[in-house]
Amino acid sequence: MTRKLFWEDMYMKEFAAKVTSVDGTQVVLDQTAFNPRGGGLVGDTGWINEAKVVDTVKGPADSISHLLETPASFSVGQDVKGTLDWERRHKIMRMHTSAHLLSAIFNKKTGALITGNQIEPEKSRIDFSLEDFDRERMLTYCGEANEAITKNAPVKTYFMKREEALRIPGITKLATAAPPDVRELRIVEIEGYDLQADGGVHIKNLSEIGKIDPIKFENKGKSNRRLYFTLP
Ligand SMILES: [Zn+2]
Repeated sequence: MTRKLFWEDMYMKEFAAKVTSVDGTQVVLDQTAFNPRGGGLVGDTGWINEAKVVDTVKGPADSISHLLETPASFSVGQDVKGTLDWERRHKIMRMHTSAHLLSAIFNKKTGALITGNQIEPEKSRIDFSLEDFDRERMLTYCGEANEAITKNAPVKTYFMKREEALRIPGITKLATAAPPDVRELRIVEIEGYDLQADGGVHIKNLSEIGKIDPIKFENKGKSNRRLYFTLP
């Protein structure tokens, strides 16, 4: 099991760790601030010592594996320093919280569930199950998200007992993904707007988003709508 330093401090840019396994270009550490790919988010990139980390993925037994550009010369037990590509990672955090805010507003206005999302640093997308395809109305919801951003609402993360969390209406707006089978769920709350069971990385305050710019809406079949957005 890899200790998830990004759950303890999502703004941690550097950390010390010990190598627990090395396999070609894959390195596992005892603890990491690198968030692995999953839940629609791309994996983090950066460096372990001078070695370039090109992706981070979930491994077996709750481990987190760092994928290097070239095979590693690390040995098990070695002390190393991890450094995130922070500029990229902060963009992912801003994008991710934006996606939660947009999802919450679309869900509240239309009852739409989220059928998929892809959170990337430069451009993200959200898929909604929604019968209605009215661009003007959807633009209005994006406008409401931007209005919400100006209110500087804090974003908080905490753990809650599974039974207690699952009693909260709309705790999971994903149409497909049931929360993992664990005793405690990690909750991400945008104060006044949204509460979600979620394992990913987020910003501390909506003000960090700046502005959401909807790029386009796509009609993906009878009841699937797709929104592409960016953060200028
Ligand atoms: Zn999320």
